Amino acid sequence: MISDEDVGGVHIKYLHHCRRQLWLYLRGIRPEHLNATVQLGEAVHDSSYPRHSPVDLGAAKLDFVDGHQWVHEVKSSSRPTDADRAQAYHYCHQLARFGNDVKGAILHYPATRRTVRLPYTPEATAQAEEDIQEVLSVATALTSPDRLPRNRCRGCSYIDYCWTE
Ligand code: SF4
Repeated sequence: MISDEDVGGVHIKYLHHCRRQLWLYLRGIRPEHLNATVQLGEAVHDSSYPRHSPVDLGAAKLDFVDGHQWVHEVKSSSRPTDADRAQAYHYCHQLARFGNDVKGAILHYPATRRTVRLPYTPEATAQAEEDIQEVLSVATALTSPDRLPRNRCRGCSYIDYCWTE
């Protein structure tokens, strides 16, 4: 079973989008489409910031960290979401666990040239810790959480699983 040290950015992202999505992912159900989405994200990152190296913390992989201890994440979407923010705080939390004096996260949206700066505050720390416990709670659920309303499933990799009667 997953432990708190295994919780990564994808778990946090799915937690904030759909608990059912997280529950399926935790059970190793990975639609083919998921790979295409991951590849798109990697392509956006590689073409946007080719000189920076990812940081591998085990469960969490950050796009890069600058010399002032800010985590940078490059997103393929056009605008920030709650999931993006939660993921950013999670990465800050992971870095802090390794003893870094992390200042916060900067989200980059190349498609719209937007940048969002998120200082790592005590409130952000509390949210990151709470999110880890929520992921563990979903992991131990015996049955899959309910579906979201259909109009919130657009673009989800699990749409065939959830909506094919
Ligand atoms: S298709 Fe909808 S209900 Fe199913 S996992 Fe995706 S977002 Fe959740």
